[in-house]
Amino acid sequence: MTTFDPCMVCESTDFEPLKVSNWKITGVGDLDVSFGLCRDCGHISQNPCPSDDVIEAFYRELSNYFHPEPDWSPPPVPAAETTKRLVGAARRFKPGKGSLYGIGIGSGRDLIYMQRQGWDVSGCEPSPTAAKQAGDLMSVDIEVGFADECLTGGRTFDVIMLSHVLEHVAKPKDMISLVHDHLDDDGVFLLEVPCARQAHRLCLGWLTLEHLSYFSTDILVRLLEEAGFFPMEITLDDWSHKYPTVTVVARKALDRVRREAPYLNQYAANKDLMEAHLRIDRAHWHAAEARFQHLKTAYVYAAGVHTAQLFSETNLLNKIEVVGIADSSPLKVGKQQGGRDIISKDQFLAGYAGQHVIISSYNSETQIAEMLAAEGIPAEKIVRLYT
Ligand SMILES: [Zn+2]
Repeated sequence: MTTFDPCMVCESTDFEPLKVSNWKITGVGDLDVSFGLCRDCGHISQNPCPSDDVIEAFYRELSNYFHPEPDWSPPPVPAAETTKRLVGAARRFKPGKGSLYGIGIGSGRDLIYMQRQGWDVSGCEPSPTAAKQAGDLMSVDIEVGFADECLTGGRTFDVIMLSHVLEHVAKPKDMISLVHDHLDDDGVFLLEVPCARQAHRLCLGWLTLEHLSYFSTDILVRLLEEAGFFPMEITLDDWSHKYPTVTVVARKALDRVRREAPYLNQYAANKDLMEAHLRIDRAHWHAAEARFQHLKTAYVYAAGVHTAQLFSETNLLNKIEVVGIADSSPLKVGKQQGGRDIISKDQFLAGYAGQHVIISSYNSETQIAEMLAAEGIPAEKIVRLYT
């Protein structure tokens, strides 16, 4: 019987298992990943939580939170809705500007636009590659590490930004408290996370290794209020990402927020949501599986978490002789996934002898297909699974 970790929101260990998968993660190996629903508050999370070693290995070495083009420079006006929302909120709620600290800033795609608006920006990022890229882009030293390693001492800021980070964190309450500790008394917290709502808008493989929490709006508000924040503005966006998001602008409250009524248990609502999502998800994987049933041998292109999901959710590894797995990231080349060697794009092109190429990336399917076509791989040999 599984022993569950205490709920990240309410500390209960009364969890209902939703899904258990065995994923073959590049550089980590075979990993059982379990998702569950708290019966006492309704929070959806990975439970048991993966070990710190797995999480650290994943972020420090394997993940791709840097921009693939080293000389990339962001366009004058941000393209991403998230960036526009966060920049706009910072301007409206702190018109006088000041200091702004970003936690888990990746390659600095949001933070640079804050700097261009006149904010005195700084931040931290666990991936050294991404931190370097962001630092070079903004001519600012970005601290390499997790927030609790970097945000120490009595430093405070006018604004702290957490954009698509909290869902990656094993202890979200500690992270929110850390933000509270390091904000000025009237400081503003900018927070955006994927939102557990609208089952038909949740992407294929929405339950994924990197995301430990799947917040619904009510649960996020609860966490913020319990930590001493007043949520001032909540924006739901169902269309800009591959899944719905929720953006909260919250002000630091000097007194703890007092609430008379207990928080509503979201269990029933989230159970309905997850049943619908898992049903839709299975149908999507069946459809993907149908695209390669006629093949005997093939290359697989991309060695990410989505490939691990593909191997787990479909019969690909049993059905097809996989000649090799190609990936454009130098961090992955030379490692293995599912017992198959990961080769570079150049190695793949040098060894290519007319086989089919199954594109296993979900997020980059179109770009990879275009790249393969540009390299002369015939269209009938390129197998797309998702579009
Ligand atoms: Zn709970």
